[in-house]
Amino acid sequence: MMCMSNMMENSSIMGTLKKREKGMRAVCTKDESHDKFITTAHVTQSWVVDDGGEFLEELSTDDTTHGPNPQNIWVCAECGEEAKVS
Ligand SMILES: [Zn+2]
Repeated sequence: MMCMSNMMENSSIMGTLKKREKGMRAVCTKDESHDKFITTAHVTQSWVVDDGGEFLEELSTDDTTHGPNPQNIWVCAECGEEAKVS
């Protein structure tokens, strides 16, 4: 009972982080048993920059602005074949 408010906070944070589209499924066109894929996600990062704003170093990845999208190209991480996403 004491940690009830903490649990509420955690679940609302999880809600904003989880922007995964439901029902999306990628299938490797070469071997259907392959289940790891490479695709683009858009994230917000904190950079270390110089006094002119030039990139020096990536400090952290802070947020996912757009997660994996079926419209983007997905490539099988195991064999490199393009995957079909539906
Ligand atoms: Zn594959």
